[in-house]
Amino acid sequence: MLLLSAATVLVTNIVMAPVHAQNPSQPALPDNVQARVDDVMPDVVAWRRDFHQHPELGNREFRTAGIIAEHLESLGMEVETGIAHTGVVGVLRGGQPGPVVALRADMDALPVEERVDLPFASQVTTQYNGQEVGVMHACGHDNHMAILMGAASVLAGMQAELPGTVMFIFQPAEEGAPEGEEGGAELMLAEGIFDAMRPDAVFGLHVWPIPAGVIAVREGGTMASSDSFSITVQGQQTHGAAPWAGIDPIVVASQIVMGLQTIPSRQLNATTTPSIVTVGAINGGLRSNIIPDSVEMIGTLRTFDADTRTQIHQRVTRTAEQIAASAGATAEVEINLGYPVTANDPDLTRAMQPTLQRVVGDRLTESPLITGAEDFSYYANEVPGMFFFLGIAADDPEMVYPNHSPFFYADESALPVGVQAMTALALDFLSGP
Ligand SMILES: [Zn+2]
Ligand SMILES: [Zn+2]
Repeated sequence: MLLLSAATVLVTNIVMAPVHAQNPSQPALPDNVQARVDDVMPDVVAWRRDFHQHPELGNREFRTAGIIAEHLESLGMEVETGIAHTGVVGVLRGGQPGPVVALRADMDALPVEERVDLPFASQVTTQYNGQEVGVMHACGHDNHMAILMGAASVLAGMQAELPGTVMFIFQPAEEGAPEGEEGGAELMLAEGIFDAMRPDAVFGLHVWPIPAGVIAVREGGTMASSDSFSITVQGQQTHGAAPWAGIDPIVVASQIVMGLQTIPSRQLNATTTPSIVTVGAINGGLRSNIIPDSVEMIGTLRTFDADTRTQIHQRVTRTAEQIAASAGATAEVEINLGYPVTANDPDLTRAMQPTLQRVVGDRLTESPLITGAEDFSYYANEVPGMFFFLGIAADDPEMVYPNHSPFFYADESALPVGVQAMTALALDFLSGP
C-alpha cells in the first residue's frame, strides 16, 4: 500500500457486520489440502520472520528475491528472475487442462526504523536519497511473500490434479521506485509478464490493522487513484505597497486553492464516488513588502472511479488556468499520473465470495474505501482482479498501528488464514463454478 493516511480511518471506522453467516459444515479446504497447509505453516512463519529481519527497499530486494526463486525452483516450477529489477515469477502448470490464475505478493520494505520489540525486529540500515535510514517491513509485505510461498508449496504438492495453471508473481517496489528509476507492477507488465501467459484472473491481498484473521473486500473501486499535480502561477513582481503596479500571484494562488475545493464539492457527481483534492504546499515570496513574480503549489488527487479521475484532471487544469486569467496572471498545470484506481472486478468478486466465506466464515466483511493507492491496480486493469485485506491486528489495542508506522505489528495468527485464502481462491477459480 502506497501512502498510509487511510489506515487509521479504517482502524476506527470498520464496521464488523458479517456479510454472510458462517456455514460450519463447509471446511475452507478439503482435508488433504488443509493438511498440506498445516504442514507448511512452520515454514511460512520462518520465512516471514526471516524477511522481516532482513528487509530490503524497492528495486533492491536481492536477498529476498533469491530466497523466493530458490523456493519456487525447489517446487519444480518454471521460474523467471530479474523482472523489473528484482521481480520473480513462477509458473505451476497443473496436470489437468484449465484456466490461468495469477497470485501476487509485493516484496519491498520502507525507509522506517523499526520500533517494535520483536526477537526478529529489523536492525537493517541503508542509504536512501543520500541519507542513512533504518529499513523495516512497515507495510507488512513480509507477510504477503511468506503467505504466497506457502500457497505455492500447497499448490505444487497437488500439481498432478490441478486443473489449470498458477502464476506466482513476486513484485518489487510497490511503494514506488527510488528516484530516477522505474519499478513495480507497471514495469513488471511492461517487461511482458502477461504477454507470454495471460491470466484469466489475478488475486492479491494486503495485511491491514483490522482484527487478525478478518478478511475485508468490496466490489469495484477499493483503493484510490493517486495522482500529483503542480501549479505555477505567474504574476508580475511589484512593491507590496503598490499592488496595482503588478499582478499578485499570491492572491491568485489563494483563489485557486479555494476554487479547487469546489471540484469535489460542487462539480463532480457526489453520488458516484468520493474524491479528494489536496494542496500540500504553497511556495512564493520572500519579504512582507514585495509581491513576488510567481507562486508554486503542489498537491495530490484521489478518487475511486476512472472516469471521475479524468474529469478531475480536466477540472483542476481549467480552474487554475481560468482563475489566473481572471486576474491577468497565468497558471501552468502539470499532472503527474500515479497509481490507477484499484478496482475489483464485480463478477469475479461476487464469484469468489463463497470461497472467502468458507475460509473465514462470519469474519468476512465489506471493506470500506481506502484512500491510499496500490499498484496491484495495473494488473487489475489488464485482467479481472480482486484485491482484499487480511486483518493482522493484535487483541491488545496498544499494539495496533497503521501501515508504515515504526510500530506496525502483524499478528502471526493471520498467516494460516492468508495461505488458506490464496490457496482456496486459486483452486476454486481453476475449478470453475
Ligand atoms: Zn505501504
Ligand atoms: Zn503495502
